Amino acid sequence: MSHKKRYTLSGMVFRKERLLNEIDKDHKFSKSDIQDNLSHPLLKDIRKPKDNYPKLSEVQLVRHYSRLARQNYSWEDGLYPLGSCTMKYNPVLNEWAANNASFSKLHPYLPENLSQGAMQIIFETQQAIAEIVDLPGSTLTPAAGAHGELAGVFMMRNYFEERNEKRNIILIPDSAHGTNPASAAMGGFQVKKVPSNEQGLTDIEALEKLTDENTAALMITNPNTLGIFESETLKIKNILEKKGALLFVDGANLNALIGKISFKKMGVDLSQLNLHKTFSTPHGGGGPGQGALVCSERMLPYLPEPHIKCAEKEGRLVYEFYKPQKSIGAIKGCYGQFAVILRAWVYIKKWGNQIHKSAERAVLNANYMRKRLEPYLSIASKLPTMHEAVFNHNTLKDKDITTMNFAKALIDRGFYAPTVYFPLNVPGAIMVEPTETETKEEMDDFIDAVKDIFETIEKEPEKIKNSPLNSFVRKIDEVQASKNPILTWDMI
Ligand SMILES: *Cc1c(COP(=O)(O)O)cnc(C)c1O
Repeated sequence: MSHKKRYTLSGMVFRKERLLNEIDKDHKFSKSDIQDNLSHPLLKDIRKPKDNYPKLSEVQLVRHYSRLARQNYSWEDGLYPLGSCTMKYNPVLNEWAANNASFSKLHPYLPENLSQGAMQIIFETQQAIAEIVDLPGSTLTPAAGAHGELAGVFMMRNYFEERNEKRNIILIPDSAHGTNPASAAMGGFQVKKVPSNEQGLTDIEALEKLTDENTAALMITNPNTLGIFESETLKIKNILEKKGALLFVDGANLNALIGKISFKKMGVDLSQLNLHKTFSTPHGGGGPGQGALVCSERMLPYLPEPHIKCAEKEGRLVYEFYKPQKSIGAIKGCYGQFAVILRAWVYIKKWGNQIHKSAERAVLNANYMRKRLEPYLSIASKLPTMHEAVFNHNTLKDKDITTMNFAKALIDRGFYAPTVYFPLNVPGAIMVEPTETETKEEMDDFIDAVKDIFETIEKEPEKIKNSPLNSFVRKIDEVQASKNPILTWDMI
């Protein structure tokens, strides 16, 4: 069978007519005999095929999707070292809970008195997350990280409006995730860039010069996108405090800090976390995200509605939705993505008061990767690495190889490629984040693959330049693929 036939559904259309002709060739039955056999009353109500509908059998469809699934790469296949995105392994226990009919069959519009169990899960997760970062408040309404940022920006806007302060600028370091300036702008603020120093940390002197009475807030990622801890947090807090500005921390990288830091001591007013990065859950192509937004005492009244509280009534705990005093209002149809909150709840319960160990292991793994990869790749900052190791393209560029060639060569060696060309302030960036669940053996295999790429560059550089050679889909035009996607059930 030709390659095209094998993978083209429309090339395998099942036709009854053809089958009847085939059988008739044997001269055993006449066509009408067969037709007579098909006239049993049970077979009468067979559905008529629709026009323009792919005529496929169930087994063809099952095989088609199984083949597609085998061309995919997932956590079940191997290392997923996508820095910044924290592609964390999602334990089977989480899925068991999320698939439990007691939860999965709940309708989001059930009245509160029939949703008490689910509301308890949301409330407990909300409280646990606030406690983990040491802040008084948290909401799980945002649909994802960027949505949490936007909700936080709205809260800051209402906070200053309430105080009759006309502050229109949000400061953002140049290493920030693209969603930070986007959220600030969508919330009606002007964005001003704060440069990084040569170590990759926020330049404190520049920050001090830029902060004035028009500054609403600094939006800073910590650990930052170079995977290093912004250690001058207290200086930053003092600079902002002096001018009455707020501190917003992009906490999407909390995987490095979970259970290890106090946002209260750091002077954090608001921080969005990503349940789908830090608290497991499949994400990316695998499932929806879920944001959390944590806040300080003074931001509590502005939290989005609905918020959940718990009260004791007639000797039992009752969970209720309510609208915080000066709430920014609703930011979403229903309260969060319940199944993701449930997975986070299971994850937190499973770790209990040992949850800081997940951060310790994630940081240890990232440092192991850094140390073992440094003979090949050049590190972006000399400072200690937190949850990910960020490299620039210097050692590749010397040999006329691009970061993209390197990433595709990793795919040829059976690995998902790390995040590349981000953050923008690192030339040809490569971000490796193994997360806490990887074993030394798996990381060693990845390191061997990198070693093999560098050996191949010496002997047969063309092989690396033409990578990937072994993948199902070879080089694609990534710009066209996102701007003019051709959607079809045919495998072209
Ligand atoms: C992933 C990420 C975000 C955005 O989160 P989404 O859930 O994708 O909206 C923001 N900031 C940082 C640092 C991130 O890594």
